[in-house]
Amino acid sequence: MAERPLDDDFSDLLTANAEFARDFRYGGFDGVAKAGVAIVTCMDSRIDPLGMLGLSPGDAKIFRNPGGRVTDAALEALVLGAHLLNVQRVLVVPHTRCAVASSSEEEIAAKVSASAGTDASWHHFHVVDDQRRTLEMDVRKVRSHPLVPAGVKVGGFIYDVDTGLLEHVV
Ligand SMILES: [Zn+2]
Repeated sequence: MAERPLDDDFSDLLTANAEFARDFRYGGFDGVAKAGVAIVTCMDSRIDPLGMLGLSPGDAKIFRNPGGRVTDAALEALVLGAHLLNVQRVLVVPHTRCAVASSSEEEIAAKVSASAGTDASWHHFHVVDDQRRTLEMDVRKVRSHPLVPAGVKVGGFIYDVDTGLLEHVV
């Protein structure tokens, strides 16, 4: 039998959620991207993917991972977005001062090992050597994907976490 989860660990967040739901405004939405936008970006907490583009909940499909990389799972999301969820424009958005673009895999593994108190060197961490070159390759991966329609616009941008500005790279 499944153990009932204790609310204690999450009580502050659940209190905030009850407040959020009190005047819930998104109940009538379907799951399509109202603004026709999909964003692939980093998990970094300094990034507000909707806010930085002047968008609101309901407007965009958002896929996040360390580094904002176009992984197989990101491509799966973009194919679904383009065919079933109204996605017409895709922004791939890594950012300045990203940990996975400024450390080696050994350095990240060493930090995780120190935190975990156990060896993490066996774990694969996807680091980026050359952020711009990687961004170009990631954008090309989306553009050349056979299931991403030719009419879908794909752009690569770098988000500056210190100014909030996007630089259109490719
Ligand atoms: Zn990052």
